[in-house]
Amino acid sequence: MVRSEGVCKSFGRLDVLKGIDLEVMPGEVMCVIGPSGSGKSTFLRCINHLEKINAGRLWVNGHLVGYRERGGKLHELRESEVAAQRRDIGMVFQRFNLFPHMTALENVMEAPVQVRRIPRAKAREAAVALLERVGLADKARSYPSQLSGGQQQRVAIARALAMEPALMLFDEPTSALDPELVGEVLEVMKQLAVDGMTMIVVTHEMGFAREVGDSLVFMDGGVVVEKGTPREVLANPQHRRTQDFLSKVL
Ligand code: ATP
Ligand code: MG
Repeated sequence: MVRSEGVCKSFGRLDVLKGIDLEVMPGEVMCVIGPSGSGKSTFLRCINHLEKINAGRLWVNGHLVGYRERGGKLHELRESEVAAQRRDIGMVFQRFNLFPHMTALENVMEAPVQVRRIPRAKAREAAVALLERVGLADKARSYPSQLSGGQQQRVAIARALAMEPALMLFDEPTSALDPELVGEVLEVMKQLAVDGMTMIVVTHEMGFAREVGDSLVFMDGGVVVEKGTPREVLANPQHRRTQDFLSKVL
């Protein structure tokens, strides 16, 4: 579903990603951990082509991200083609960034109606079902300001799912939440994983990584230092840097 080969990304003279090789199979949940500044968010943004990579290749769902290859040469895709590729990918950030002037239901309906041109009645029906799926059927008419952080984040997940993505990217989706609200969001994500969604999750929730993750990646300094099953990496880290990091967060 996702393949990253030698992906490099620099901002000016700062080399942030230094050759990322990773693969995520359909239905797999890959969790990514690592210290601040190690390049986790940048990597997710590259998958979405929100950042252009400087070297390497990225594929999502069989498509080369952002480019077309012809005669061994890469040609940049047009903005509309990039937008079409992005529709395969749902993204949930640390901050929920819902549209504040729209109800939960309208937030979930917005992209299907505006981007996919789905008739309102049909989009509404799908949105109601999605809000139910994230446990918020009774909050459809609430505005973001009337919802808790955990509820807002669950609306954000429903909104991403409304585009029927093949892949979901989560960037520390619970780290801005009060501790007592973390569980309800992780529970929704866990259910999504059980239902077979392919997911890449940047998180510091080691319990989630252990329970839900198929693989666990430790990034540091723009490289993948270690990758394995969560059990392997957490119980028996092979590298000093992984051991040091885990000793601080576990
Ligand atoms: P955190 O755990 O704090 O979220 P991270 O692993 O997600 O960290 P990134 O946000 O990917 O780290 O940032 C990696 C490095 O790239 C940092 O040094 C950051 O300052 C730098 N960086 C990220 N985006 C930009 C940008 N648009 N312009 C310049 N530098 C950037
Ligand atoms: Mg980050």
